[in-house]
Amino acid sequence: MDAAPTYFECPQCGFLSADPSFGTGETPCPYCGAAGDSRRVFPTERLRRLDSRIRRYHSEDESEIVVILVAAFLEAILEDIIDRILTARGADLSVREVVLDGQRAIGGRIGRLFPHLTGEQFEEAAAELGYERFPARWREVRTARNAFIHDSPFNGPQETIDAEMAKQSMDLLDQAYQLFVLINNRFVASTESPRCEPADGL
Ligand SMILES: [Zn+2]
Repeated sequence: MDAAPTYFECPQCGFLSADPSFGTGETPCPYCGAAGDSRRVFPTERLRRLDSRIRRYHSEDESEIVVILVAAFLEAILEDIIDRILTARGADLSVREVVLDGQRAIGGRIGRLFPHLTGEQFEEAAAELGYERFPARWREVRTARNAFIHDSPFNGPQETIDAEMAKQSMDLLDQAYQLFVLINNRFVASTESPRCEPADGL
């Protein structure tokens, strides 16, 4: 991939699809049947800008910057998916803020928050959706980023991040969009748990 992919979102249930006819509104939502107006685009403009900067750094062989930015990008996208799952479960803004503030570390979000909210370990969900190696490869990228940024009392800082780890990060960046959409459609867009809509005027 040489740019972020484009998905379209159903404003009623949060279902995401890459189908252009879904984006233009010709096709009703396959999950909730909502008609096709005002479908927003995923990823957001903010993530799209970050994506294109990461790809530029990768083309310039800036391996350290690529790994650091991909690690930050993946954490932002995970926060987004957890926020969407909370919203689908009926949590309002203040509840979502408290939950996400209470679990700021990436390890806790993956290891505790995600299974609490979905009833599945992140690793299980990723494997079932066809991305079995994604969680372990993501851990390797985080470890490489941390070793580069932080001094270790045992080994000292790792001086460089190699091109191979940057390539692995770029693969994860591309896979993260697909995995995010599958997780979204499984745990957010569901006719069994429709998204709570605020009453008029609230
Ligand atoms: Zn829908």
